Formats: sequence, structure tokens, C-alpha cells
Amino acid sequence: MQHFPIFVALAGRRVVLSGGGGAALAKLRLLLKTQANLTVFADDPAPEIVDWAAAGRLRLVRRAAEPGDALCAVLAYGANEDAAEDARFAAIARADGALVNIVDNLGDSQFITPAIVDRDPVTVAIGTEGAAPVLARRIKADLEAALPVGLGVLARLGKGFRKAADALPMGRKRRDFWADYYFGRGPAALETDGEEGARAALDMLLDRHLGAAPQAGRVQFVGAGPGDPELLTLKARRALDTADVVIHDRLIAPEILELARREADLIAAGKEGFGPSVPQDRINALIVEHVRAGAHVVRLKSGDPSVFGRLDEEIAAVQDAGLDWSIVPGITAASAAAAGTGGSLTRRGRNSELRFLTGHDMDGFAEQDWQALASPGTVAAIYMAKRGARFVQGRLMMHGAAPGTPVTIVENASRPDERVIETRLGDLSADLDAAALAGPAIMLYGLAPKAATAALPRVSIKDIAL
Ligand code: SAH
Repeated sequence: MQHFPIFVALAGRRVVLSGGGGAALAKLRLLLKTQANLTVFADDPAPEIVDWAAAGRLRLVRRAAEPGDALCAVLAYGANEDAAEDARFAAIARADGALVNIVDNLGDSQFITPAIVDRDPVTVAIGTEGAAPVLARRIKADLEAALPVGLGVLARLGKGFRKAADALPMGRKRRDFWADYYFGRGPAALETDGEEGARAALDMLLDRHLGAAPQAGRVQFVGAGPGDPELLTLKARRALDTADVVIHDRLIAPEILELARREADLIAAGKEGFGPSVPQDRINALIVEHVRAGAHVVRLKSGDPSVFGRLDEEIAAVQDAGLDWSIVPGITAASAAAAGTGGSLTRRGRNSELRFLTGHDMDGFAEQDWQALASPGTVAAIYMAKRGARFVQGRLMMHGAAPGTPVTIVENASRPDERVIETRLGDLSADLDAAALAGPAIMLYGLAPKAATAALPRVSIKDIAL
């Protein structure tokens, strides 16, 4: 982030602008929405600027800016549409101690004016660090469409009601009240009965929330998918949006945790990975403790919570405590890995059965029906592959699996650093050592990456121009 977004209080502060043409007009229209003390320097000002000056909305000085003109100004805009004049003005303003913006010249600007969606007092500022004005305009258009014009009115009324709402205890009760107003009763009342209706809705809601019994807590066991935030379900997104507490595995990508409500408590309580792990009993106790305190807890697990996630143990704990719970499924690593190989997990005539197994569980290496797995055509997605690979390879070979059986390892499936490693059962250990896996990895036993690449020597599918 090269530019740090802030909202500057401009009421009564001095803002100067140099220029009198189209660029100046565009900036002034924005600046006139504030209560800044505006001064414009222009030899030849557009008629609108003259009118604004006559109406007392800004001060107009009919000459080019000179040293000292930007003294005590917080912001200075160069809008001369003339590179030499803008550079001269920038030097003056900088020397006078103002922060300088030169219209359409990111390099010489100390700050930038974002694209703005104005639902005063709600203001959305969009910045792309100058990288993609087209993108900013598109996002602005989308937001303009998504944010009802009435939002500004609701927010203004809401602001005036904040003191009254302080009658509600801070924290969840107060948040529930405001959520009810902004996303429930408020917009509906505004639409049917106008401003008066929205004001009445505030009183009605306050009475209701003052009398309301405290909300009971609950826990959602939510699948976070394999890492790509776009592979979250809509339900998972909504759960993260509203959670009070998010208890998450260590495998969860930071981009996904970013989506949690800003006020939510984020608690890392994972068992995966090689870092310090939180004992299962402690995780269970944490969930129960927060739900009992009335929180909406999201227990966020990588992939699908029901696949190698010790979900039942956590469910048993909340059930024993008599608490409310539900499951939100997610995309499991095997599905994401298959997408990474460009192929499917099942195929008519090849395998009508698909096994999910783990190479390594909490008790150590996991025993399987090796005989069945060793038979030709078998396909299995083997989780926790890194630790279990050597063991799985040994057992399968011992039970007669062909050394040439295709195996694909997918590391960091669905993430930007995804790697697809093609190998054969006989070479598995050596190839894994060579690959030096760092992220989570899953093994697709019996599957080669997409047919077109299967005949090629062992290289990452990502290196091949498909
Ligand atoms: N519930 C999870 C699995 C938890 S077990 C799911 O449904 O995916 C943890 C194992 O999942 C890891 O050791 C690894 O084998 C696999 N895994 C999770 N995320 C992965 C990813 N992005 N890429 C590859 N494997 C992954």
C-alpha cells in the first residue's frame, strides 16, 4: 500500500487550487461538498468559478499563484492543465508546507483524490494507486448501484440517534440494534414512510431491543475451502460477515481471515502444520466457552469440515453442553487438487470408486486396505501426504502395486503458489524429496495430470504451456 487512505476534516481549513479550466472545475465541484476555506488562483477563471466566488463559496484571486499563497493550507491542487505551470505551483505549495496534488500526475503528487461514492455521511473512497482508473470507475459504478440513495438519509438519522442508542449495553446488543436498523427496518420504513418513518423505526427498534432477551450463542462449523477465497461458499462468506468469534485452523489463508467481520475475535487454534498445536480438548472448551457467553462462533476449518477435521469430537462437545450448532460444508482439498491437474477424480471405465484416505493421522501412520488400493485402476486422494508418503509408498509396493502407477502431488491447491508434481509410485519418495514441499500437499494416487501432459517427463504442469 503506497498511499494510506484517510478522511481529512476540512471544515474551516485552508485549501488552495491553481487553475481555472475544466480540471479545476472538476476538483472544485468535489471540494465544494466540504466546508473547506477554498482559494482559487486563476488568470482566466471559468464562469462557474466566478459565480461561486460571487456567491461567497470560495475566494478567487485573478492571477497566477506566487510564493506564500499556499501558507497554512492543508491541501494544494495544481489543476492548470499545463505541465510547466503545475510544476511551478507544486514547488511553491511544497515550500509553503501544503500537501500537493497535481491533477493527472501521480508522480508529482503527494496525495491522490480517490474515486468517491457519496452517500453523505457515508463516503466510499476507491483508490488503485493510479494503476487502473478504469477499474476504479467500474467499482464506483457497481457501488453506486449497490448502495441505495437512501443510505445517506438512514446514516444521517442514525448518527443523530447514537446517544439514545447508548441506552443499550455496548457490544452485541447495540450492534444487533444497528444491524436491524440499517439492514432491516430502516430501509423498509424509509421506502414506505420516508424520513419520518425511518425516525419512528429507530424509536420502535430501541424499545424492542431494550426489552429483548439476550441472544443465545451458536456455533457454525464452516468449511473455508482449500485457500482461494473465491472458493468459499456464500454461506461461509455470510457466516464470516456476522461472526463474533472465529476460531480457525492454522491452514486458513490470511486472505480468508480478512473477510471476517472487523470486530470479530480471531483465534488461531489449529492442529495442522508443524507449528505449536492447540490440544483438541482446549479447542472444544474454547468453542463451548464462547457460545455460552452468547457469541456467534464460526469454527473455521480448511477444506470441508467433515473431511479429516475431527469435526465429530467438536460437535460432541457442543452437543454435550446443549448448545446450538450447524455445519457449512466446503470444497475439500481433493476437489481443488483435481482442478489443478486439469482432470477429474472419477472416470467411466477407469475408476467408479474414489477413496479419501490419510497417510498420517493423530496416532501416527494410518493403516488402510492396502490390498484393495494396490489393484490396478484404483484412485485415492491421500491427505496429509507429506508425512505419510514414504510409508504409503512402501505399503502399496509391498502389496503388489505397480511402480509405474501414476501419482500426482498437488501442493497449495487453488493458491497462487500451487504446484503440481507428476510422478510414479516407484519414484515417489525421491521426487518428493526433490520437490521440497513447504505448503499443504495432497497426493492423487492413480491419477496423472490431464492426458495431454501425462506422456511428458516429470515436470510441473504449471511449466507447460497448455
Ligand atoms: N478438511 C480438509 C483436510 C484437513 S487435513 C479438507 O477437506 O481439505 C489437512 C490436509 O489437507 C493437508 O495435510 C493436505 O493434505 C490437505 N490440504 C488442505 N489444503 C490443501 C491445499 N490447499 N492443497 C493441498 N492439500 C491441502
